[in-house]
Amino acid sequence: MNPLDTIVALATAPGISAIAVVRLSGDDSISIVQKIFKGKDLTSQPSHTIHFGKLVVAGDEIDEVLVSIFREPSSFTKENSVEISCHGSPFIATKIIQSLVEAGARLATPGEFTKRAFLNKRFDLTQAEAVADLIQAENEAARRTALHQMRGGFKKDLESLRQELIHFASLVELELDFGEEDVEFAKRDELKNMVLRLQSFIKPLIDSFQTGNVIKNGIRTVIAGKPNAGKSTLLNALLNEERAIVSEIPGTTRDVIEDVIHLDGLAIRFIDTAGLRDALDPIEAIGVDRTWQEMRKSNLILYLVDLTSTTREEIKTQEEKLGELGIPYLLVGNKMDQAKGGLTNLISDSGFVLISALEKTNLQALKNRITNLFQNVKASPDSTIVTNLRHYQNLAETSEALKRVILGLDTRLSGDFIAMDIRQALFYLGVITGEISTEDLLDSIFSRFCIGK
Ligand code: GDP
Repeated sequence: MNPLDTIVALATAPGISAIAVVRLSGDDSISIVQKIFKGKDLTSQPSHTIHFGKLVVAGDEIDEVLVSIFREPSSFTKENSVEISCHGSPFIATKIIQSLVEAGARLATPGEFTKRAFLNKRFDLTQAEAVADLIQAENEAARRTALHQMRGGFKKDLESLRQELIHFASLVELELDFGEEDVEFAKRDELKNMVLRLQSFIKPLIDSFQTGNVIKNGIRTVIAGKPNAGKSTLLNALLNEERAIVSEIPGTTRDVIEDVIHLDGLAIRFIDTAGLRDALDPIEAIGVDRTWQEMRKSNLILYLVDLTSTTREEIKTQEEKLGELGIPYLLVGNKMDQAKGGLTNLISDSGFVLISALEKTNLQALKNRITNLFQNVKASPDSTIVTNLRHYQNLAETSEALKRVILGLDTRLSGDFIAMDIRQALFYLGVITGEISTEDLLDSIFSRFCIGK
C-alpha cells in the first residue's frame, strides 16, 4: 500500500441520515474529486472553502453536493483533503465512493486518516489512541480521561524529560570515546537527580493505571455470598429489571450474567457468579472455583450475608477470608426486613451495610458506600490517568530501566553499562509516544478505529 495514495471513505455512520460525508485525503484529493465534479474549478480554489456543485459520472448526475477543500498542511491529516457532503442515502454515498475509486482514489483502511495524521506528526501516538478511546467512551469518567489525553495528557512532560535524558545519554556515550582517560562529561549527581525526577513523574502514572482501568472498563463487581443470601434479588433490584433469575431454589442462576449500572459517572459492572458452584459458598471454595477467579479479577466484592441465617462466627471467618484477597469489599447484610432483635448483636461491625434486596430498602446507602470507595476515581477529572495497557507496560519497563541506571550510578558502574540502561529507558519512552514504532504496532492500534476515522 503506497502511503502517498489518495484514500477515500465514508466519514459518517452508515445508514440513512440527512447528510453523509465522504472524505478523501492525499495529494490528488482535489483533482480526483474534480474529475466527477461539475461546478467551479476546484483545483484552483483556496483552502478552507466550500463549493456547491453536482457530481456527474458517465453523464449521470449522482447528487448535488457541497465540497469542502482543505489544502496541506492545514487539514486533519496535514495532506490535501476534501469532504463531500452529499444526501444521506447509503446508495448515494456508496456510488460516490465507487466513482472516486474509479477516478483514482483507494478505499481507506480502518483508522487510516488518523494514522496519516500521526505519521505527519499532527499528534503523538498516545493522542491518536485517545481519539479511539474517546469514540468508544462508555461513561462520563472515561470520556473526560480520554479527552484529557487527547489534548496532550502526559505527552509534553514526558517529552521534555526524555530530551533531558537523551542529553545525558549522549554525554555518557561521549565519555566512552575517550576510552582509558578518566573523563566525566555527565555529572553523576546531576544525572541521578534527573533520573529521580523522571522516576517521580512516571511512578504516579504507573500507579494511576489501576484507576484508569476502572474508568475505562468499569468497576468489576462481584456479588458473592452463600446460596439463597439474595444475590440475584439484589442484582435484580440494582439493575431494576429481570435479568437474573430469582428463585426459591438455591443455585439456580446458571449463567454468568454481566450488567452495568452507572453511579455518579462511574460504571459498576456486575459479574454475577451466583449459582456457578451450586451449593458451595464461594468463600469456602476459595482456590478451586470460578467464583473465586471472578473475585480475584474484580475491583469490588459485595459480600452478601443472609441476616436471618448467619452466625456471628461465620461472618468473622468470612471477613477474614475476604480480607486476605486484598480487594475492596463491602459486607452487605441482607433480609433486614426479616431479621429482628438479634440483628444488632450480629452486626458488631459498623462497616456492614444493611439492606433488604427484596423490599429495595437502603439500596441508596449501598450505592453511596460503593461510590465512596472509589472517591479517588471521581475526584481526579483532570489529573493524568493512564488507561492504556500499552502505555502502562512501557512505563513500567522505563521505570525498571531507570532503577538500573540509579543502581549503576550508586555502585559507580562503568559508563557503558549506564549508557545502555539509559538507552533502554529512552527506547520504552519512545515507544509510548510513537517516536519508535513498528508497522505491526501501528496496525494494531489503528485497526481499532472505524473506517473513515
Ligand atoms: P441467591 O441464591 O443468593 O441468588 O438468592 P436469591 O436472590 O435467589 O434469593 C433467595 C431467596 O431469598 C428468594 O426467595 C428471595 O425472594 C429471598 N430474598 C432475597 N432478598 C430478600 C430480602 O431482602 N428479604 C427477604 N425477606 N427475602 C429475600
